[in-house]
Amino acid sequence: MSSPESANGRVAARALRERLAELADLGTTIALLGWDRETVMPERGAESRGELTATLERLAHERAADPTLGDLIDAAALEAGAPDAPPDDGVIARIARRDRDRATRIPGELVVAIARATADAIPAWMQAREESDFARFRPHLERQVELRREVAGCFPDFAHPYDALLDSFEPGATTASVRDVFARLREGLVPLVEAIAERPPPSPLHGPFPVAEQRTLGLEIARSFGFEDDAWRIDDAVHPFAQSIARTDVRVTARWNEADLSGIFAVMHEVGHGLYEAGIDPALDRTTLGTGVSLGIHESQSRTWENQVGRSRPFWEHWYPRAQAVFPEALGDVPLEDFHRSINVVRPTLIRVDADEATYALHVILRFELEVALIEGTLAVADVPAAWNERMRDMLGVEVPDDRHGCLQDIHWSYGELGYFPTYALGNVVSGQLWAAAQRELPGLDAALQAGDCSQLREWLRRTIHHHGRRLDPPELLREATGSDLDPEPLLDYLREKYTALYDL
Ligand code: ZN
Repeated sequence: MSSPESANGRVAARALRERLAELADLGTTIALLGWDRETVMPERGAESRGELTATLERLAHERAADPTLGDLIDAAALEAGAPDAPPDDGVIARIARRDRDRATRIPGELVVAIARATADAIPAWMQAREESDFARFRPHLERQVELRREVAGCFPDFAHPYDALLDSFEPGATTASVRDVFARLREGLVPLVEAIAERPPPSPLHGPFPVAEQRTLGLEIARSFGFEDDAWRIDDAVHPFAQSIARTDVRVTARWNEADLSGIFAVMHEVGHGLYEAGIDPALDRTTLGTGVSLGIHESQSRTWENQVGRSRPFWEHWYPRAQAVFPEALGDVPLEDFHRSINVVRPTLIRVDADEATYALHVILRFELEVALIEGTLAVADVPAAWNERMRDMLGVEVPDDRHGCLQDIHWSYGELGYFPTYALGNVVSGQLWAAAQRELPGLDAALQAGDCSQLREWLRRTIHHHGRRLDPPELLREATGSDLDPEPLLDYLREKYTALYDL
């Protein structure tokens, strides 16, 4: 701790923390209203909720753009240079400056234009998808691409215009580095998926799996991951998500389907996101560092729990007898061996959100390639459906019957969110690296999972990833946690080993 004298010298650092705490509180309040809208708000609350949220967003924007905040950041950065200043002060000032720079470099008119374009594009996309009519969505996507090129133009210091978009979701990632990682990933995945396709598929599970029992089992599994009854909630939502309000107030949501167990895997996924935010160093509460560092790192946490843990043999050796007791009719006569194979089915399909662990990243690589080409101007929006369908054929060997099952399936582009998709597959890549590192450093991990004990892994992830919040950028965080840069090989090794055993490759 600093001496009283030097603490007195931290006038700007303290004032900056207060201002950032206010901003964090406003952001959290907006998030809480969003959680409420998706879970418990009555339908007719939508109109007033829109006004409420818009007011808070305006206040948050005004405060973030306030010139005196910029002065305070400069003063705090100067103070942080003192030899006895706490190290977090410097990081807080640096990240606050970066966030502010990002927010203020995009002119207000452009922000308004994007909001308008998005408000028009979402219903157009919904209708276009409904009718499988790309032409209806095309002018909206053209507008969004044009606006995102303008956004990229506000950041001329990046080597590639797409870098500027990528960086807002995944600080430190570049188009070149992602292109390289994805090329190696694709090279490894395509032959693996082809080899699996030649083997007989596992027999599917036959439900029904009553929803009440799925909730029970899902919650028991969530608790074993680290869900705490007095600090977490689980509610139903149309599209499952996780939202942390505080480290001790974590909201996850679920969607249940009686025909399969997808709801339970979605709970594992969202709890993985929740654990990240719950595990951040309390010293970073209400600072600009007290959240997850990037979408890719966030996704690595959810994927680790959903896939590396939740689809593993050791995990189900503990949980399967319980699952059989909960679903005696559906699972009573199914041996663990068959159950494990059936939750690890690999099948090239059309829809990203339903894709399995082996094909998922290929869906993302396709979107990344198209987005980069759209931003570079080498692909016209009109040619998106043809380019999409061709890549689906090349990478997954499937024919796209219509645009509803092709380029209109995801909502992201109607928000103009180019640069977002790659983070999904980066999450898979990072989960592969973290899993390999955890296996190295925790020799008893498989035995612990077999005994139903997830605490070793949770504490390891807390130490290596969660604790840091935004202190370290993703490339640095990854290097500290795993000893290497972004690398698809550990994920590919893990998948090859797993499917070789399951499919006798
Ligand atoms: Zn996720």
